[in-house]
Amino acid sequence: MSEPLDFILTGGLLVSGEGVRRADVGVRGETVAAIAPDLRDYPAREVIDVTGLYLLPGAIDVHVHPVYEDDVEACSRVAAYGGITTLLHFVYARTGESLLEQVQRMLEDGQARSRLDFGLHGGLFEAPRQVPEIPRVMELGVRTFKFFLAYVKQQWYTDDYHLLWAMHLLAERGGMAMVHAENGGGIDYLEDRYWEELGGPNAAHFFSISHPPALEEEAIFRAICMAEVADCPLYVVHVTSARALRPLRQARAEGRRVFAETCVQYLTLTEEMLRTCGALAKIGPPLRTNADREALWQALADGTLSVVSSDHAPKRKAPFGDLREQPYGAPGLETLLVVTHDEGVNRGRISMVRLVQVLCENPARIFGLYPRKGTIAVGSDADIVVFDPRREVIIRAEEMHSGAGYTLYEGRPVLGWPVMSFQRGHRVLWEGVVVAEPGAGRFLPLLEQPPATPV
Ligand SMILES: [Zn+2]
Repeated sequence: MSEPLDFILTGGLLVSGEGVRRADVGVRGETVAAIAPDLRDYPAREVIDVTGLYLLPGAIDVHVHPVYEDDVEACSRVAAYGGITTLLHFVYARTGESLLEQVQRMLEDGQARSRLDFGLHGGLFEAPRQVPEIPRVMELGVRTFKFFLAYVKQQWYTDDYHLLWAMHLLAERGGMAMVHAENGGGIDYLEDRYWEELGGPNAAHFFSISHPPALEEEAIFRAICMAEVADCPLYVVHVTSARALRPLRQARAEGRRVFAETCVQYLTLTEEMLRTCGALAKIGPPLRTNADREALWQALADGTLSVVSSDHAPKRKAPFGDLREQPYGAPGLETLLVVTHDEGVNRGRISMVRLVQVLCENPARIFGLYPRKGTIAVGSDADIVVFDPRREVIIRAEEMHSGAGYTLYEGRPVLGWPVMSFQRGHRVLWEGVVVAEPGAGRFLPLLEQPPATPV
């Protein structure tokens, strides 16, 4: 018999993008070395009994902002508590900043302090200055870049000229464009028009009426057209509404390289939250209606949407201060897996297999990390989450690990919780505590292989 395994997880139910099966998993070094119905006779230094528990590939959150109440180190810790093992962070280059410098800074910070493996997306606020930097940034392993079609007033906006230029640069170099797709000029006008009449301390209706789904649909359609002209793969972040699904369905039916995600909050919460939580529920694009929520679940099940992310952006806010002045964003990393599982799988909207596709396999495929990440297979990184489907937890901010100080899921019970996890064979979550050290995480260059069709 060959060299002993470092450890075996025995008795678990292995979930992949194809199905669920009873399988023992053996790990040697940093990779999965053996998978079989029974490995207990195989020589191993340690046997860990996980009878009746799910073995999931480590979840990948592709949409994280580690620059607010949680930095790169804190995000990796918060995520690890939630059963996530890989993070794709946005590096924002604000107006006046160099994209290259910002990327170098976060790359160094992540290598020094991230407890989890991570990749980086660029995010451009000042396209005329920053688009020309894209080729040099790509050489560092950052190959996906987000452009804001919203936020004209805030001057984060990328106009069509620079969007198309950037898409050409990306297409020529094996990169991918990402868009925050809302029509910024339209939203700015609607905010000005409705503030007098509908503004004030509880401006929930103002927020909804000034960010209509039609302006999300329009921006997605425009981005798809631009990507077609440049022959550039496109990834639409945080899709929120039933209407926005129409151009995505069409593009995917035509076989275009257009991928789209939604976030767990759009699947599980509605605009009612603005009334009860005020600005704590101010996120961009906004929370929508129940009908939108159900349409998103359907799109997730039928393959129109390929990924669920958190858009983790915890910020300090005055819940009932002037809504226009309060920042966009909410925490969500730690609850991404458990809430998507509870609302999706436990309520029969998606299967356990689909859960693994949208949180593990598709993120890895789309961002060029598959099969190293996103699956438990012989030769893949031993990134494994042991998930107990019978463990019930009531979500409370005081028990969460984010610096946000609140969660939009306060008091919500969820059935199913991660009980241990490993990254490249090393313990991450162990006996209820994150034991992975700062600096344990490695930087993952994205798109070393082109984006692959999601499942
Ligand atoms: Zn975001």
